[in-house]
Amino acid sequence: MLKGPFLDKDFIGSNKNYDKADIVMLGMPYDCTCTNRAGTRFAPQQIRVESIGIETYSPYFDKDISDIEFFDAGDLEFPFGNAEKMLKITEENVDCIYKDNKKLLGIGGEHLVTLGSIRALKKYYKNIAVVQFDAHTDLRDEYLGEKYTHSGVMKQIANLIGFENIAQIGIRSGEKQEFSLMQKYNTHKFSPAELDIFSDKKIFITIDLDVLDPSLMSGVGTPEAGGMSYIELINWLKYLKKFDIVGIDIVELAPDIDTTKTSTATACKLIRECLSIL
Ligand code: MN
Ligand code: MN
Repeated sequence: MLKGPFLDKDFIGSNKNYDKADIVMLGMPYDCTCTNRAGTRFAPQQIRVESIGIETYSPYFDKDISDIEFFDAGDLEFPFGNAEKMLKITEENVDCIYKDNKKLLGIGGEHLVTLGSIRALKKYYKNIAVVQFDAHTDLRDEYLGEKYTHSGVMKQIANLIGFENIAQIGIRSGEKQEFSLMQKYNTHKFSPAELDIFSDKKIFITIDLDVLDPSLMSGVGTPEAGGMSYIELINWLKYLKKFDIVGIDIVELAPDIDTTKTSTATACKLIRECLSIL
């Protein structure tokens, strides 16, 4: 046997024991319906590599992720160009996580992966609310004739759990009719206290990284100026911490677009904060 020590290939602070884990980190490197620049399929692997550079201690939440029982399951493998199959594979695997009484920390991939997770989650909890952080409404019925795309993922989720169980935060881009939908169902939220309507719900948080301003998160396929600062996002998470959070995913990082890798480092740090509130 080689003696090592060896560098860890998994996310920093993760452990090797699935059975003991409370949280399962699952890479979902799907990248086929991105409407602008592609590259999200490379995010989970690059996040793991970059994670070596962050501290395991979160000063925002006074928690060290080394003390959290989370298992890094690696990446699912998806067939290229088949959204239905990707959704099925995602749903089946996320289903296992909840059947085993654990929580999901999903890493995209493009935003469509969230639909697979919610399909699974819905079998275990009847009263789900999804809190979406995103620059985009993601409420399209279809895009170029395709129903399952990252620009329609929240519409599909709304069809599953009802618009009344959706909150959309940071939104600043979409078609006029998508904004009308947000207004009609009052899903667009501007202050944390507006989330109190979900205090008795099981919360799934989906973070599309383009919610952050492109000045700190340029490594996304569809950057939108006018976004949140990191601290603003942290303040939302601090408020959400008191809710019953059953899963989180972090999607849409396209690491190669930001050659400084700052976007990837920021995603790693955000994953740490998310682990701290799960
Ligand atoms: Mn987006
Ligand atoms: Mn999105």
